[in-house]
Amino acid sequence: MSADLREIVRKYALQNAALHKGSANPKAVVGKVMGEVPELRSRSKEVSAAAEEICAELCGMDLDDIITETESINPDLLKKTKSEKKDVMIDLPNTENGVVMRMAPGPSGPLHIGHTRVAIINDYYVKKYKGKYINRLEDTNPEKIDPDAYKMIPEDLEWLGVHVDETVIQSDRFEIYYDIARKLIDMGQAYVCTCNGDDWRKLKEQKKACPCRSQSPEEAHELFDKMLAHGFGEGEAVLVVKTDLDHPNPAVRDFVGLRINDTAVHPRTGTRYVVYPMMNLSVAVDDHLLGLTHVIRGKDHLNNTIRQEYIFKYFGWKKPWYHHYGFVKIPDSILKTSTVGAGIKNGEYTGWDDVRLGTVRAIAKRGIQSDAIRNYWLDVGMKDVDIEFSWDNLYAFNRQILDPVTDRYFFVDNPEVIEIKGVDSLKECAPLHPDHPERGVRDSVITAPIKVCMTPEDVKGFQERGTVRLKDLCNLKWENGEAVYTGTDHSVLKEGVKISHWAPVDGKDCEILMPDGTVKKGICEDIRKEDLGKVVQFERFGFARIGKMGDKIEAYFTQ
Ligand code: GLU
Repeated sequence: MSADLREIVRKYALQNAALHKGSANPKAVVGKVMGEVPELRSRSKEVSAAAEEICAELCGMDLDDIITETESINPDLLKKTKSEKKDVMIDLPNTENGVVMRMAPGPSGPLHIGHTRVAIINDYYVKKYKGKYINRLEDTNPEKIDPDAYKMIPEDLEWLGVHVDETVIQSDRFEIYYDIARKLIDMGQAYVCTCNGDDWRKLKEQKKACPCRSQSPEEAHELFDKMLAHGFGEGEAVLVVKTDLDHPNPAVRDFVGLRINDTAVHPRTGTRYVVYPMMNLSVAVDDHLLGLTHVIRGKDHLNNTIRQEYIFKYFGWKKPWYHHYGFVKIPDSILKTSTVGAGIKNGEYTGWDDVRLGTVRAIAKRGIQSDAIRNYWLDVGMKDVDIEFSWDNLYAFNRQILDPVTDRYFFVDNPEVIEIKGVDSLKECAPLHPDHPERGVRDSVITAPIKVCMTPEDVKGFQERGTVRLKDLCNLKWENGEAVYTGTDHSVLKEGVKISHWAPVDGKDCEILMPDGTVKKGICEDIRKEDLGKVVQFERFGFARIGKMGDKIEAYFTQ
């Protein structure tokens, strides 16, 4: 990349990083660059590559340094263009008598990043109004249950900082759903349909009733009892809740409330029940019986809400306050539980916490902080517009939490050894954290023959430019094919000398598992025992969570 291109891309990458808590978004940077120099549009590939590269470089820089450098280019770059965001977490209505709220996951696997929105928004309001949080495990589709999920979901909620007051498992409540079905039959609001499913749906599309719809409550009871007694096979009969066949939305016209499944073995109830409630029936019943005051969930439930409201109306129950936020598209993530479950079985993934996955446990393992996820969703708020989840924004929130607390170390990926001539011993003088001198320093002493590791790219840059500063160690010049010590004075940076990170040759072997499943192998400084399990910042490389310490350090790349 040419020096001019580098300069302009770096300017906007610094600005973007400074305004976004240290994380620059390459796409936004490209937009700014093109805005200033429209001629670059014809070189968009080159500009994008430069933006990717420079944003990645900034990732390993301290936020303070980013801000200082941005200011030195032009202080105006730090002015926010957008007005401050208004509070997007609206106040809820009808909270005088407290709130009861819930999340209602199906136990098909552990939670993934997509589930965290409903978990956190509801938790936020329950805490705000000092209410009650119910975790309702909706396990009434026996085909879609992973028995381990009953344990994993509460663990994930705990990690997310969600306080659960009560756990309800729907498979404990079959008799309740049957009882409601019987009452609906009594009211004339439900029938047992034995038609072919496709025929029934076709009739509904034409706003027409199937022959079963006119059956008397007595007939319906008889048929429902036969369903319960396993007198019908799977698909031969369903209990249908009546709505309005003239409803403009065909999806709302009559819906299946209970169906037969006599092939699956439910992990909790075995083959004891063959008649399973469908979501709209069990959700409406439980939302009422558990006293839900506010139901906040995604827009994908809008039609379900309309269906469920019929049940509330038939029984004269008070409806909760419903709110549906927009769809969330999650890019670059493997989320589908069936795909992941199969991948774990066939050995493609190491488990539900495989760092390539979008599960909460994988994200936690990498070192994303639960408060970063919380802050992300509270910032997005309750709006009903559809959004694309931004990993960059999540990383920005994460960095905001990590920057002030993480210890700094050097890690050199794919190390190349250079010998430093012209000095007998060198002392590293690097703080564990630049803002917390009380934490101490990394102060290893290296004696002749002085050898350090650098990345091949940094060695190449050093040789081409003829100078380099090894961060917190010394300055070097490249002379007659050798790296020669030239002092320790910082002021060389003002003369444009580039800075490189390094590691002692006798440092620790270190392997960093990247989110794409590849491994970066190199050498790092000795890590304090206290940092085991925590995130550290490998300067000029990025954040990583230390997973294991022994002869070798094993870490997971955070961002
Ligand atoms: N179990 C439903 C689901 O996971 C949620 C039901 C609801 O939120 O009403 O989609």
